[in-house]
Amino acid sequence: MEERSQKVLYVEDNPLNMALMHHLFKKNLPDVLLLEAETGEHGIEMAKQQRPDLIILDIGLPGLNGFETLEHLRHGEYTRHVPVLAISAFAQLSDIAKARQAGFAGYVTKPIHVRTFTEIVLNLLAGGAGRFTGC
Ligand SMILES: [Mg+2]
Repeated sequence: MEERSQKVLYVEDNPLNMALMHHLFKKNLPDVLLLEAETGEHGIEMAKQQRPDLIILDIGLPGLNGFETLEHLRHGEYTRHVPVLAISAFAQLSDIAKARQAGFAGYVTKPIHVRTFTEIVLNLLAGGAGRFTGC
């Protein structure tokens, strides 16, 4: 039986950050398929269609922000159980606490620390817990 490769959906409006993520995945997570969406609205649609194993969600997005996007994902029949990792430039403890409260599986701040970030992604893909960190 053919093994299905795991899919991660990254929702990010900044093309440079998207390009960096593709580079990171190619180098550190070559067996994981990285899908992209540039808005929360598009991300919600993609998540329904593609059924990713993990969603990495930027907080600062045009239109629906990361928190609003998470809310929609949590109410979607096919997306409610998908872990969502927040990624944000906001590094205050209150921002991180708010993300935990909202139901994110983890929180990383930009600029990301590649090794820590990769570990968090692998752990979430393996069904483990995320981390809330300014890594
Ligand atoms: Mg952004």
